[in-house]
Amino acid sequence: MFPGYPISAITNGVHAVSWTAPPLRNLFDQHVAPWRRDNRYLRYAIGIPVDDVRRAHQEAKRAMLAALKSRAGVQLDEKVLTVGFARRAAVYKRPELLFSDIERLKWIARQVGPLQIVYGGRAHPRDQEGKDTIQHVFAAAAALKGIIPVVYVENYDLQWGQILTSGVDLWLNTPKPPEEASGTSGMKAALNGVPSLSVLDGWWIEGCIEGVTGWAIGADAPSDPRAEASSLYGKLDSVILPMFYGRPNDYGKIMRFSIALNGGFFNTQRMLSQYISNAYSADCWGHWPTRVGNVSVPAGDKPA
Ligand SMILES: *Cc1c(COP(=O)(O)O)cnc(C)c1O
Repeated sequence: MFPGYPISAITNGVHAVSWTAPPLRNLFDQHVAPWRRDNRYLRYAIGIPVDDVRRAHQEAKRAMLAALKSRAGVQLDEKVLTVGFARRAAVYKRPELLFSDIERLKWIARQVGPLQIVYGGRAHPRDQEGKDTIQHVFAAAAALKGIIPVVYVENYDLQWGQILTSGVDLWLNTPKPPEEASGTSGMKAALNGVPSLSVLDGWWIEGCIEGVTGWAIGADAPSDPRAEASSLYGKLDSVILPMFYGRPNDYGKIMRFSIALNGGFFNTQRMLSQYISNAYSADCWGHWPTRVGNVSVPAGDKPA
């Protein structure tokens, strides 16, 4: 579309204050006070006591459980690891990947530790395949009845977006690579101290530090749904559930790293400042890196 012009990438971000739930806002006001004016202060969240992070999260979780009770009529358990998955119901987002092997999921819940799942997302009215993926989630929920509670939130909107991205314990994203452009809901979760378990696509290629800010699905496997599902289950049963129930303080540290490393970076303030220094500034052309850390950036040509 723009021959002769340099094309490169500036990573997306979310508006930090808008997407932080009240208990986390209060926590940041107390410990890293100027964070609302300058989101970079979130870096210093690394010094907040883990117990305080966990307490603030638990408050956000209780607010979500109350909303689910009053608006969806479902009572979930405050102590149980809650997995969240919510976004537009588009086929490439693959909400059904978690349900590839219902028996294995049941085994995990029985043998390793209980879990409960919250889904949300609307399909475009003319997107029949998107609607089918929702049907698939309902069928899986029925198959898991009595073992793993699955709630589907109707009319997922911005308000539910904030409630879910701050209230769950783990944010799941399973897009079909390389179709995820960004995945901003994972950024919202990070701001609220909710780590991601995600396919390495979109923002997670940059945001994932394995075992520090969350976990990658299928990092060393080919992009194949069976291998990816198996990697997902493996992370749940041998890494995430044992840590959540057995070493809650370690899980709390991951939550805190999510805030400091990812909340402090994947926000609109950083994004806009990068537009200024890397796109709008007169002398930036031709100075784009081709590789930043693990991320390759398409090389740009000099402008015509
Ligand atoms: C954040 C958000 C999205 C986008 O989520 P992605 O992870 O980028 O797909 C969609 N809908 C609502 C209501 C949101 O809050």
